[in-house]
Parts: sequence; C-alpha cells; structure tokens
Amino acid sequence: MAELAAYAVRGENSRGRRHAEPAPAARSEFQRDRDRVVHSTAFRRLEYKTQVFVNHEGDLFRTRLTHSIEVAQIVRTLARALRLNEDLAEAIALSHDLGHTPFGHAGQEALNDCMREHGGFEHNLQSLRIVDLLEERYGGFDGLNLTYETREGILKHCAPARARELGELGRRFLEGRRPSVEAQLCNLADEIGYNNHDVDDGLRSGLIGLEQLEAIGIWRRHAAEVRRAFPDIGGRRLIHETVRRMINTLAVDLIEETRRNILAAGVASLEDVYRAPQLAAFSQATHEEHRELKRFLNRNLYQHYQVLRMTSKARRIINDLFAAFMQDTRLLPPQYQRRAQADKPRAIADYIAGMTDRYAIREHRRLFAVGEI
Ligand code: MG
Repeated sequence: MAELAAYAVRGENSRGRRHAEPAPAARSEFQRDRDRVVHSTAFRRLEYKTQVFVNHEGDLFRTRLTHSIEVAQIVRTLARALRLNEDLAEAIALSHDLGHTPFGHAGQEALNDCMREHGGFEHNLQSLRIVDLLEERYGGFDGLNLTYETREGILKHCAPARARELGELGRRFLEGRRPSVEAQLCNLADEIGYNNHDVDDGLRSGLIGLEQLEAIGIWRRHAAEVRRAFPDIGGRRLIHETVRRMINTLAVDLIEETRRNILAAGVASLEDVYRAPQLAAFSQATHEEHRELKRFLNRNLYQHYQVLRMTSKARRIINDLFAAFMQDTRLLPPQYQRRAQADKPRAIADYIAGMTDRYAIREHRRLFAVGEI
C-alpha cells in the first residue's frame, strides 16, 4: 500500500483509548477498532434494521448492515486514492449507524419525541453511547474502548450543550474545528451509499418508476450512456449499470475535489486538517446534481403513501412501548431495570433503540395483544 499522506491519521499518533491497553500485536489500532465493531452485538443487529423499508417487507432490500458494508467499501476506495488511513475510514463507516432505532428515520423521530423532556434522542450520539458504554463484552471496561479518532468520526454533529458534557471529544464543536479527512469522507460516502441504493430499492419495490427518474439529470445522463453501450439492455441490468456509474461518478468527483481542496488550503499535516475548512466535498456541479436526486427521493420515495403508512405504524409502536415502560419499569429486562434506577427515560430509550424492527413488533405484541402471551 502507498505511504500515507502527511495529513492522514496515523495509528502510532493516536490520542488513544479511554482505558489504556497494550498495542495490538498483529493489527493497527484502527484495525482493532474495526474488529471490535464487527464482533459487537449492535453491529449484528444492523442486519434486522432498515432505513426506508421495514425489514420483513422483502429479503432483497438493503438493511443497515448491508448499507454499512457498502459505505465502508466506498470510503475505503476514497481513502486509498487520497492516501488516507483506510483502516480508520473503515472502522468509522462500520460504526456510523450503530445507534439507529428500529424503523429508520420514523423510529428516530418517534423516540426523540418521547425523550423531548428528557434530553432528546439522536442516533448519532447513540452510536457513540453504544461504543463507549452500552456494549457489555470486555472484562476491564464498558463499551468497546475504541480510539479517540474512531469515536471522533462517529460523532458527526453535536449541539453545544451536549458537546460540553463530552469533554475532549466535544471540544471541536465548541471551537469550530473539523474532524479528520477520513471522517469527513465517511459522511459523504454515507450519502453516496444511501441515495444510490434507495434508487435501486425504490425501483425494485415499484414505489418509483424508471420514467420518473428520467427527469433527474444524474440518472438520465448515466442511463443514456448505458443504452448507448448496450442498446438492448433493460430491467435489472439497466438499473444496476446506471447505479454503478452514478456511484463511480460521485466517488471520483469527491476524490478529485477533495484533493483540490487539500492543495488549495495548503494542508500539510493532521493539525492543518483540524483547522482548515471542510475539505471533503463534491464539486459544485456534482453537488447540485446529487441534491436533485436527494430531493427526488424525498418527494417520491420517503413521502410515498405506502412508506408513510409504515412510518405511522412504526411511530405508534415506539410511542406505545415507551409509555408502557415509563409507567412500569418492572416490564423491562433486568439489565435495563438496573439502568433505569439511575435514569429511567434514558434506560428505556437505550432498550428501545437497541431493538431490531421485528423485535420491536414482537415486543409490542407481547405487551399489548390481548390473548397473546
Ligand atoms: Mg448511514
């Protein structure tokens, strides 16, 4: 592998872990972080959590697990092309969605509403809470004890009040400093991942149609190129050939624009990265095209009446569960009852956020279905 750029994060310069541990024998610090994430309970649950569709609606749709793997694959390409730390980028990508509730954005909104009087709920902070506190796997500490740099990458945004509580990790939000380029790229790789796979899943589900997408520049341009190369192509192959070109265009544009920004800002060290403006970015033209696609998905897929029916049901399930546990914490599993003694609403939010889609549905049935034990 090519030597790391001067502004890449280096394992040997890591600001370390909250609990000191000996250096890994055969891996880098960030490989160890990635491995801990992959072995965690929260990571396994991503298989049964969704973004747009509910898990049991079909076996072919993306789950948060396959989404996280796709994001990791995209960001590794970006990191390697820019001679950044690929292991760190991968560790961040695989952990970025750990804190998501069941039922995607609908679940997060519902839980945030339930927690309004109790500090709110935010999936990004919850991801950090999982790796810092909630995973119970190691003898010497709670959580996964990840490096500072991976935790910094997980925490994408943070309100000032919360940042003050987070100490060193929160300081950059108060001082207006950036995270590593590896972390910056991860956010954009996330967008590339979900916009493109939502197009694919949207078409597969029949909620959006090819003719609608022809109105969207980035789709039209790439689909025309595919039809020129393969005049008889149609169906799944047309969709995939188009989507893969869109992903490639976005990734290459992101690499080139980020490289230009690094050069223009005269960035020569990691310290420079922290002080510079946002470096990872699409070019203006690609940014506009990408936004058009996002708006399209928002209007036509996320607000589709069939999706809204599901999200309204999801909201009801989360609200009911939260209310039932608030009324009687003895209904919680024992480990959450113990946590509830210190902070009842937060313990309940932790329990609900950890549920998979199907577990939440079952738990709702167990608590509310008359005639079912
Ligand atoms: Mg994501």
